[in-house]
Amino acid sequence: MLNWDEFYSDGAPVKEKKKKIVSEAQKAEDAKEKKVEIATDSTLEQIAESTLSEEDLNVGREDLEALDGRVQVDQKAMINSRADVNQLVPFKYEWAWKKYLDGCANHWMPQEINMTADIALWKSNDGLSEDERRIVKRSLGFFSTADSLVANNLVLAVYRNITNPECRQYLLRQAFEEAIHTHAYQYCVESLGMEEGEIFNMYREVPSVERKAAWGLKYTKELSNPNFQTGTPENDKAFLANLIAYYCVLEGMFFYCGFTQVLSMGRLNKMTGVSEQFQYILRDESMHVNFGIDVINSIVNENPNIWDEEMKTKARNMILEGTQYEIDYARDSMPRGVLGMNAAMMEEYLKFICNRRLVQIGLPEEFSGVKNPFPWMSEIMDLRKEKNFFETRVIEYQVGGSLQFD
Ligand code: FE
Repeated sequence: MLNWDEFYSDGAPVKEKKKKIVSEAQKAEDAKEKKVEIATDSTLEQIAESTLSEEDLNVGREDLEALDGRVQVDQKAMINSRADVNQLVPFKYEWAWKKYLDGCANHWMPQEINMTADIALWKSNDGLSEDERRIVKRSLGFFSTADSLVANNLVLAVYRNITNPECRQYLLRQAFEEAIHTHAYQYCVESLGMEEGEIFNMYREVPSVERKAAWGLKYTKELSNPNFQTGTPENDKAFLANLIAYYCVLEGMFFYCGFTQVLSMGRLNKMTGVSEQFQYILRDESMHVNFGIDVINSIVNENPNIWDEEMKTKARNMILEGTQYEIDYARDSMPRGVLGMNAAMMEEYLKFICNRRLVQIGLPEEFSGVKNPFPWMSEIMDLRKEKNFFETRVIEYQVGGSLQFD
């Protein structure tokens, strides 16, 4: 082999020559690889061509041809619409799109919340009373599975029966938020070193928790039959009942005792990390409830025939049943006064919420003269994120939606 160092007297050309050799060798390698690539491409092309020639697109085309041309706003409907669900615009339900945007602006993740003080307090022997510990465990026990029930109901029962894309868009966002909530509870359980088996099985093993879960599951089961479809008054009513069960009762009632208990703990400077997680979850949940109420009322407006006396009585009874289950849960999780509240105060609060849910779907109040003993709960729900003490992070997320590029 030629010794370039000997051949050239000065060092620079030697380096140049060496570089040239290396780069030529590289080119040869690249060309080899390219050949392989070309061979692979042409093989793929052949396979694709032969497969495509055999492909029957008629099934998909039939679906597209069945659509009545370009989507007109008045063809859109909450249920039983044949307008193309793949075209988001033109909007009919602008409020649903707005709620989707609001949900995205409120994005948060459980790991962003500092749990250090909670871990120290939970592990200390005298930091919390037994009654306070019960509240934390019961809440995590119910919620750790309840948000999965809601998510499963959305995906298995609600989504396919809602026939407009703007509401589906919100449902997709909501489903992700339910996943974040389940993640948040798991994060709390893990951070505090709780016994996972005890917490995650509470919805099967503790009667006051089990009743609430079983009540919700009953409505999912009714609709998760793959042959179920709306389009008859009976099935449209079953679908409406599912929405009332989940939005007015499960998310709109069953979450309220536990949320109030944990948030009042945070107000007393105890379990502030768990409480902050719950604060964000409550804010999301109050948006879920508002969305669900709007969907329910839109379905009733578009299908007045299904909102008959029978359906109104059913809706009222469902909300009353849910209120009673939540009152039972309050008594069970709070056998004595704790954190400046007791089961009787919670009962009044739940009756106040019950009246509100009834009125929201056009039914009369059930309990006269009840007041809200926890007005600070509404403040937490209504608080806009940027006014919150976790200002910086939230503002970052909100800016994320409208980034300016140079
Ligand atoms: Fe929810």
